[in-house]
Amino acid sequence: MIPYGKQDITDDDIKAVVDTLNSDFITQGPRIDQFEKDITDKVGSKYGVLVNSATSALHISCMALGLGKEDILWTSANSFVASSNCGLYCGAKVSFVDIDLETYNICLKKLEEKLLEAKTKDCLPKILVVVHLCGQSCDMSKIKKLSIEYGFKIIEDASHAVGGKYHDSYVGSCKYSDIAVFSFHPVKIITTAEGGAALTNDEDLYNKMSILRTHGITRDPNMMENEFEGPWYYEQIDLGLNYRMTDIQAALGRSQFKRVDEYVLQRNNLAKKYDSLLSDLPLQIPMIMENIYSSFHLYVILLDLANIAKSKKDIFISLREKGVGVNLHYIPIPMHPFYKKLGFNEKDFPNSLEYYQKAISIPLYPKLSENEQSYVVETLKKVLT
Ligand SMILES: *Cc1c(COP(=O)(O)O)cnc(C)c1O
Repeated sequence: MIPYGKQDITDDDIKAVVDTLNSDFITQGPRIDQFEKDITDKVGSKYGVLVNSATSALHISCMALGLGKEDILWTSANSFVASSNCGLYCGAKVSFVDIDLETYNICLKKLEEKLLEAKTKDCLPKILVVVHLCGQSCDMSKIKKLSIEYGFKIIEDASHAVGGKYHDSYVGSCKYSDIAVFSFHPVKIITTAEGGAALTNDEDLYNKMSILRTHGITRDPNMMENEFEGPWYYEQIDLGLNYRMTDIQAALGRSQFKRVDEYVLQRNNLAKKYDSLLSDLPLQIPMIMENIYSSFHLYVILLDLANIAKSKKDIFISLREKGVGVNLHYIPIPMHPFYKKLGFNEKDFPNSLEYYQKAISIPLYPKLSENEQSYVVETLKKVLT
């Protein structure tokens, strides 16, 4: 089976992990600070907080921004559930905005309409989580303008977009957001097995997130409420969690991160090839907006079902049977039973529902060979006709 995504582990990666296992610190050691610095140096944000997953990063981001019971968080209706669960963890209400069927990202027109309506009903969101689906950044400068007009904070769920660019900046620079979150799950751009990061330019948010990942405990005398009593002394000043990344993971991450540009370039080259090879088929290929460099975490096609004799289910099953490991990203969040019980209905998000009915993620990862890519295309052609 050719999977839809796959990590790439080199001998250098393995050596970095083994060296860490042989060192004094396998967690809470020097590699966390080093990896944080590698990331912030590259993407151009001031601060970075490594954690054990992007889900944890989203959670402490919401906590640091002060999201609570009286508040509302909005996100895209088509994302992984972590993008909205983070709001629920904080006791807040969540709501969704439908997507644009060309970029697959949050629809800015619908966002504006929903904001206008929320303003009249006095239920504006405190936080908007924008999701850079498949690795393509949302139009952040427009979203920033709306955030100023309507007074909400912005978290970029950039789980897919590590190594991507918006205008001249790497995603993660936080030029147009309060916090940006990366995921290092194995199917994503680079991996630490499990892992994530929250990036920001705001010192206060950084301080809050860095203690929230470790029980709310500080060892920094400047942050303490009482007199620093001595070298043994630490204080819990907030209620945090244990969301720490290990040094073993950070070692893997540092080694992987050196290749991030190479990986993203390979993904873009493979995507371009798909674009041309699939151009005659009854389907929509990904559309990348001007001034955006996608990291191409995913290559998602939308089937033109009106011009195909088979159902999507049959197509999906046939592709899998023939060894093409297709997938779907995602089931609209409001469609999950848990969210239905909260009163949501996917029918309120018609574009996300249409996407769900038509979308297939086809294999894309840096080491996908020419033969494998041709096989995917040929199989798709056969199955669609
Ligand atoms: C993968 C993913 C997450 C969660 O990442 P983890 O590191 O697995 O917690 C969150 N949001 C999106 C959009 C993702 O794709």
